[in-house]
Amino acid sequence: MSDDYYRLRSTQIAEAVAADTPVIICLGATEQHGSHLPLGTDTYQVEELARSAIKFLDTRGIAALLGPSIPFGPRQFQCEAPVDFPGTIAISNKTMQQLLREVCAELIRHGFRRLYIVIGNAESDAPAQIAAKELSEETDAVVTTVNWMVVITELYQNQISFQTPQGHGGAGETARILAILPELVDLKASRAYHPKIPASNLDRDALPYLGGGIGRYKLPPDAFDDAFEGIVGAPAEATAEIGRQLFAVIGKWIADVIAFEEGLWTGR
Ligand SMILES: [Zn+2]
Repeated sequence: MSDDYYRLRSTQIAEAVAADTPVIICLGATEQHGSHLPLGTDTYQVEELARSAIKFLDTRGIAALLGPSIPFGPRQFQCEAPVDFPGTIAISNKTMQQLLREVCAELIRHGFRRLYIVIGNAESDAPAQIAAKELSEETDAVVTTVNWMVVITELYQNQISFQTPQGHGGAGETARILAILPELVDLKASRAYHPKIPASNLDRDALPYLGGGIGRYKLPPDAFDDAFEGIVGAPAEATAEIGRQLFAVIGKWIADVIAFEEGLWTGR
């Protein structure tokens, strides 16, 4: 996991506050990702996305700080509910909301005024939105959630095309871990799996964290059979090069969002 924040000294935090530096807080997870990916997959990915965004921001003259990460999130029901896979450490929606709220409140107490919460675990989106809304209402800080999963398909569709739909532990996540921590990926242990649900263009809109109008947090129990190993998609479609492209394209989108917000609040 990232130790960027922990490497800083208190005096450097004071300097960052004095420079009115925006802070990125990454929401990861400690969660099973099938037989081929590590439990820290979501945290590793989101921190790398934040670093990619920070590089793009730097080219625009905006210095952002990679703040503390939260490596836990609520249970991913769609992929955890059918089977209890070992390793996942999930926290409740309420704890997620309160933990994030208190971590952000500490950053605000130290003087940071713009916090960007980058979602790396889809299930953290709803609690993060509530925490961000309350802190923005109650303090003079601006707390913004940034969920790239809403736009990811549009972002990469011109560059990357997977053969089959990809979800939790699928080719997208596998490609990103191959790009940064290939030694932690056991592609030989992976098998493709697609739940038995009708293919429909409603599927994307049915995921609440994608901003859809339909809130479906579970799939019907008969969507999964005995071959289900905790992932959705075809990890074998992943390559490290695709992972690098994904980090670049998503990192740029995150940077665009942050740059827009920074312009709004600071005029720079
Ligand atoms: Zn994941």
